[in-house]
Amino acid sequence: MALSGAACAGHQPAPAPVTPGVASSSQSVYLMSRELMVPVSGVRPSQVPDTYTSPRTGGREHRALDILAPRGTPVLAADYGRVLRMRTNPAGGITIYEIDAGNRFVYYYAHLDHYASTLSEGKDVAKGEIIGYVGTTGNAPANEPHLHFQLMKRPNAARWWDGEPIDPKPFLTLPGRPSGKG
Ligand SMILES: [Zn+2]
Repeated sequence: MALSGAACAGHQPAPAPVTPGVASSSQSVYLMSRELMVPVSGVRPSQVPDTYTSPRTGGREHRALDILAPRGTPVLAADYGRVLRMRTNPAGGITIYEIDAGNRFVYYYAHLDHYASTLSEGKDVAKGEIIGYVGTTGNAPANEPHLHFQLMKRPNAARWWDGEPIDPKPFLTLPGRPSGKG
C-alpha cells in the first residue's frame, strides 16, 4: 500500500478487502521481505506444487502445500523464528508450530518422520536450520512421504493452532538449503 505524506483524517482510503486465503497487501509486503525458504532440503521454489486449493473431504480445501521428498529428507525452518509447539495429532502426525521472528505468522510443519534431536519448544531457529525429517506420520499415505506446510496468520489470544491460513507459495523465494553447511 502506498504511503501518502499528506493524508488527512477525512480522506483515509478504505481498507482493502481481504480475500480469504490470500495475503493482504501489507501482509504480502511483510512476507515478501521475509524471503521464505522452501522448507525441504534440495527443493527449489519452482518445484513446489500448487496444492493449496486442492479439494479435500467434506468440500474443504487443503489450504497448505504438500512438498514431496524421500523419507528422511531434512525439513528446514522456512524463516527465522521460535518453536512454539511440538505436537502429535491424528491428521498431522508429528508436527511443529513455529512463530516468525516478528510474531505475525505461524508456520506449521506436519507428517514428520521425527524431530531434529536439537529441537525443543521455545528454541530460536534460523532460516534453513534442520528442524525435522520428511515422513508419513498422521494421515499421509505410507508410500508418499511429504511435508505438509501451512502458513497462518498468528491468531489472537492463545489459539496458536487456529490461525487463518494464507497460501505460502508466492512467498517461497529461496531454495531449500540447510544453513550452517558451507
Ligand atoms: Zn497436506
